Amino acid sequence: MVGTGIARELSRYDVRVVLVEKRADVAFGTTKANTALVHAGYDAEPGTWKARLNVRGNALYPKVCAELGVSYKNTGSLVVALAEEQTVHLHELRARGETNGVPGLEVIPRERVLAIEPGVSPSVAAALWAPTGGITSPWELAIAYAENAVANGVELLLSSPVIGIDMRGGRAVSVRCPGVVIYTQFVVNAAGIWADDIERMINRDDFEITPRRGEYYLFDRRVGHLVSRPLFPVPSQATKGIVVAPTVDGNLIAGPNALLVGDKGDLATTAAGLAEVIDGARKLVPGLPVRESITNFAGLRAVAVPVGDFVIGASPGVPNFVNAAGIQSPGLTAAPAIAEAVRDILADAGLVLVEKPTFNPVRERPTRFSELGRDEQSALIEKNPLWGHIICRCETVTEAEIVEALHRPVPCTTLDGVKFRTRAGAGRCQGGFCGPRVVDIIHRELDTPMEHVTKKGGGSYILSGPSKGPLLEQAACRCLADAGCNAARDDGPDDGQVCGRAGAEDVGEGVGRGDHGNLGEQDVCRIETREREEVGGHAHGRV
Ligand SMILES: Cc1cc2nc3c(=O)[nH]c(=O)nc-3n(C[C@H](O)[C@H](O)[C@H](O)COP(=O)(O)OP(=O)(O)OC[C@H]3O[C@@H](n4cnc5c(N)ncnc54)[C@H](O)[C@@H]3O)c2cc1C
Repeated sequence: MVGTGIARELSRYDVRVVLVEKRADVAFGTTKANTALVHAGYDAEPGTWKARLNVRGNALYPKVCAELGVSYKNTGSLVVALAEEQTVHLHELRARGETNGVPGLEVIPRERVLAIEPGVSPSVAAALWAPTGGITSPWELAIAYAENAVANGVELLLSSPVIGIDMRGGRAVSVRCPGVVIYTQFVVNAAGIWADDIERMINRDDFEITPRRGEYYLFDRRVGHLVSRPLFPVPSQATKGIVVAPTVDGNLIAGPNALLVGDKGDLATTAAGLAEVIDGARKLVPGLPVRESITNFAGLRAVAVPVGDFVIGASPGVPNFVNAAGIQSPGLTAAPAIAEAVRDILADAGLVLVEKPTFNPVRERPTRFSELGRDEQSALIEKNPLWGHIICRCETVTEAEIVEALHRPVPCTTLDGVKFRTRAGAGRCQGGFCGPRVVDIIHRELDTPMEHVTKKGGGSYILSGPSKGPLLEQAACRCLADAGCNAARDDGPDDGQVCGRAGAEDVGEGVGRGDHGNLGEQDVCRIETREREEVGGHAHGRV
C-alpha cells in the first residue's frame, strides 16, 4: 500500500520511478491481511506522524478511491463502552481526537447505540461516534495505485527482491536485485516488516521492526448484516482492541489480537489466538455465530522499536535515502498522506518535481458482473459469452472478469492475484470450487504450464502433475498409434504421474514418461490435447 501509493504520487511529476517488489504481485505483504478500516484518527498521540497522517489520509480517502475505482464506504465507527466506568475513556478519546483534528466526534448514549447497532451487547453504556470512520479494500487500493502508477509511466519490477544498495560519498547510488542494477538519485524504503533489513543495506540501524501478529475470523456474507459499521472496544495502551466490522464486500470481520512474534514469516493462526479473538468479538456482539466463519488469517504489524511512531524521513546522514517504515496501523488510512509526505521530503532533499501535463489520476474500476443489473449483465453476455460463464459461484465471478484481470497493466499470474482483483475464491468455499478452473484459465491465458501456476508466487504450487495416469496412458498410446509411432505400448508408468514440473521441462529429452523414452515435446502436447478431448467433455469442458 505504502510503496504503491508513493509511486503513484510521484507519477504526477516528470521523474523516472521504478517500483521494486520482491513478491509475485503487489499487495501480498501486510496490506493483504488487516482489518481494512479507514480510521477516523482519535487513537494516536497528538503531534505524532500517526496522528497527523491518519487524519489527513482519512480526508483524502473518498477522492483517492473515487479516482481509482476502489471500494470505500464512509460508515462512521463506534468505540463501545461496555460498562459505565469505561465511559471516561470515551471522553478522553474524543478530546484526543479533537486535538488531532478529527471532525464530528460525539459520545452517544446507550439507546442511540442500540438504535443504530441492534447487535451490540445489551450491556453497552455509551459509545464514541466518529462519523469520518469507514471501510475499504486495501488490496484493491494497492493494486489500483500500482495500475495507475504504471499507466502514468512508473516501471514495476515484480519478483525482484532488493538484495543490496550501493553507497558512494554518503549517498545511495544504486539498488541491486537479482540480474538488475537500478542507478538512482533517490531511494524510498517502503518494505513493510522488512524495512529495517533494507536500511541495514546502507549501513544504518536506526530502528528495528518487531512484528506483532494479529489473527482474524472472516464471516460469511450471510451474517454481514449483523453490524453496519466498525465497532471497537475501549482501547488498551498497545492496541485498538478486537474489532467487529463489516467489509466492503458484505462479509463480517473480527480481530485482531496482538502478539509479538520473533519471526517475520510467522503468519500462523493458533487455537489460543482465535479463541481470544472470538471472546473479544462476542463481548461486543454476543450473537456472532462462529460456524459462519469462512476463513482465518493473520497479519503482521510493523512495529518500529524504539520509535513507536511511523519512521518517515531521510535516514540520518544519508539524505537521498528516505524511509517510510514502521507503518503499522493506521497505515492503510494514512497511505495517501504518507505518499504526500514522502513526496515533500524528496523535494526538500533536491528532487525536482515538475508536474506532468499528461498525468491521468483516473483508473477505471474493473467491471464486476455481480454488481450489475440484469439488463447490463445480459448486454455483456450478448457481446462476449465469457460474461455468462460463472467461474466462482460463491461470489458470482465470470470468466470474462478473470480473463480481464490477467491482462491488466500490473501482471497478475497467481490464484491470489486473481482473488484480490475479482473475488474469485474469496467466498464461502474459499476457492474449493473455482480454484481448478482459475488455474486452467491462468494456464490458457498466460500460456503457463498448469504445474507452474502458484497460489501466491514462490513455491506455492497448486498442482504437482496429472494424476489420471492410466487414462492418460491410454490416450497417449492411442494418440501415438494414430500417429504411427511404434513407441505406443501398454506398459506406462504406474506412479500416476505423466510429468511433474521437472518432467514437463525435461520431457523433450525423454524424461518423466515411463518407457516412451524418445517422446518429443510435440508428442506430449498432442497427448495432453487428446486427454482434454476425452476427459474434458465430461468435466465442464476442460481438465
Ligand atoms: C493485524 C493488522 C491490522 C491492521 N488494521 C488496519 C486498519 O484497519 N486500518 C489501517 O489503517 N491500518 C491497519 N493496519 C496497518 C496496515 O495494514 C499497514 O500499515 C499497511 O498495510 C502497511 O503497508 P506497507 O506497504 O508498509 O507494508 P506491506 O504491505 O507489507 O508492503 C511492503 C512490501 O515490501 C516488499 N518487500 C519487502 N522486502 C523487500 C525487498 N527486499 N525487496 C523488494 N520488496 C520487498 C514486500 O514484499 C511487501 O509487498 C493493520 C495491520 C495489521 C498487521
